[in-house]
Amino acid sequence: MIFDLWETLVDYDQAAGRAFQDRVAERLGRDPDEFAALWLEGRPSRESGTLREYLLGIGVADELVDEVVALRRDSTRILLAPRPGAVETVVELRRRGYRLGLITVCSEDVPDVWGETAFADLFDVTVFSCSVGLRKPDPRIYRLACEELGVEPADALFVGDGANDELAGAERVGMRAVLIHRPDEEPPWDEVREWQGPRITAIPQMLSFLDE
Ligand SMILES: [Mg+2]
Repeated sequence: MIFDLWETLVDYDQAAGRAFQDRVAERLGRDPDEFAALWLEGRPSRESGTLREYLLGIGVADELVDEVVALRRDSTRILLAPRPGAVETVVELRRRGYRLGLITVCSEDVPDVWGETAFADLFDVTVFSCSVGLRKPDPRIYRLACEELGVEPADALFVGDGANDELAGAERVGMRAVLIHRPDEEPPWDEVREWQGPRITAIPQMLSFLDE
């Protein structure tokens, strides 16, 4: 079983994300709104390469790069707080003998601090886009995770909130996909609105889903 990270196992806190951007903008002496727009535009690049390379590319002075990367790690440490029941569910899935994987589109701060989170050591395989240079829904990122888990895609289940067209991407390589979407939220992705496949509203429901 392979999980997405953001908005699946942890919340993506937009306000905290913006607070980080504002802090960096201030440190770099840039306009906060312009910097936020620039940061947003740079997502694909950060998520498939190093932060250093990205920061140098947007004109951050070499001597400030390490400081900005450290600020990013500090922010991410706080963001990677498990959703209620997420850790307990993963632990129970392990107990039931499932091989567990993670595929996340993220920048290097996530693998940098992963070992300090409550999820450390709970996954057999972790695939971080920035480390492998592939982003969902590239079929190669799913195949890579399955290969490392030692399972055929047809025997693997992918669970995610649908960002990056990740559910259809999983199905295109032959995996089954489960949408996680909280009922009280407007779905931000078209894929979620149109999703006909299985869905859960919270991670612990995976346990009863598997019992069905
Ligand atoms: Mg997500």
